[in-house]
Amino acid sequence: MAKIVCVLYDDPVDGYPPTSARDEVPHISTYPDGQTAPEPADIDFTPGELLGSVSGELGLRRFLEDAGHTLVVTSDKDGPDSAFDRELPDADVVISQPFWPAYLTADRIERAPRLQLAITAGVGSDHVDLDAAKQHGITVAEVTQSNSLSVAEHAVMQILALVRNYLPAHRWVTDERGWNIADAARRAYDVQGMSVGVMAAGRIGLAVLRRLAPFDVQLHYTDKQRLAPGIEQELGLTYHEDIRSLAGSVDVLSIHAPLHPETEGLFDDDLLGSMKRGAYLVNTARGAICDRDAVVRALESGRLAGYAGDVWHPQPPERDHPWRDMPNHGMTPHVSGTTLSAQARYAAGTREILESWLAGSPIRDEYLIVQRGALAGAGSAAYTTRS
Ligand code: NAD
Repeated sequence: MAKIVCVLYDDPVDGYPPTSARDEVPHISTYPDGQTAPEPADIDFTPGELLGSVSGELGLRRFLEDAGHTLVVTSDKDGPDSAFDRELPDADVVISQPFWPAYLTADRIERAPRLQLAITAGVGSDHVDLDAAKQHGITVAEVTQSNSLSVAEHAVMQILALVRNYLPAHRWVTDERGWNIADAARRAYDVQGMSVGVMAAGRIGLAVLRRLAPFDVQLHYTDKQRLAPGIEQELGLTYHEDIRSLAGSVDVLSIHAPLHPETEGLFDDDLLGSMKRGAYLVNTARGAICDRDAVVRALESGRLAGYAGDVWHPQPPERDHPWRDMPNHGMTPHVSGTTLSAQARYAAGTREILESWLAGSPIRDEYLIVQRGALAGAGSAAYTTRS
């Protein structure tokens, strides 16, 4: 029998909600590239419930306990005395979400001799030391594509919010009880006619490009893997060989690359300084792709007219993290990929992965990041490792 340790974010401050805002979420069976949405044998939750917090338990308890397995759910993940650290030594499976990442460092992996499977309930497995997972024969799997369009929508929303100066304008209505049109308009522009680029045109980046095309903008991108000529033509894309060429060419840049050795700290003073004065930067990929203090400096100097996103480093960030107070930002907590709509898909996908693993069947190739000591499946296309 297996012990599964599941690290989830805390319930809402007012307690677990007895009802949802809506009665249903749309059912998505196929993603844009034809991949099918998760297909577990069964689910024990109603899509639209809050599944990603501790009391939601990703809807896994009945399924696991009825089969005799042990499920431990906690939000207590940081520091040597955390519940996560206490439960790790005899855990067979760890489940974590990028929004509240249980950092599976090399040191923690050393202290988890039984660990065989690390599941990311969502997309993005950089909170797992992939080199250590390779060395210890741990399979790393994530629910590829479960929240890709959720994130794309958030990125588009934040691009519009920054360029149109939405949040300050909203605050004139709520906080100031005012009607300060000049104050709201003095930093407001149209997206129409701007050059908009994405760094990485994978599942999320391409979806952002597709969603922005109707805004009559010039679309640009860079990626290690160039898109098919048909897609470039359809969307009128300008391809850039490297990030420096892209960064210097666009008014708005949205980051959609995974965090790995090639991208960590990439947006430093130098790269930010090469962007157009008054450019906007949106990062819903990973906080550590940007140099924290360089972003603050770029906003303070006016090099960047705005910065938004939902990813920070570490997570949760300190209460005095400078991104909370920097000028002209539109940050949210890491929420874009954990809408209730996305939770239904990645909870089902987590169950699908567990069903396969517990039955000794192969996990879908597109869910794999590391397997048998090497990058695998989706991981081979997206990540690099040090070893
Ligand atoms: P994907 O695997 O479909 O696409 C990743 C793309 O990045 C690939 O096209 C790859 O070629 C490209 N890439 C990798 N390294 C690069 C580099 N050095 N330079 C240029 N391109 C590079 O992944 P996806 O589903 O689009 O997700 C992308 C990332 O978004 C995830 O890894 C994760 O970090 C992040 N994400 C965030 C949230 C959220 O809630 N904010 C949710 C899901 C994913």
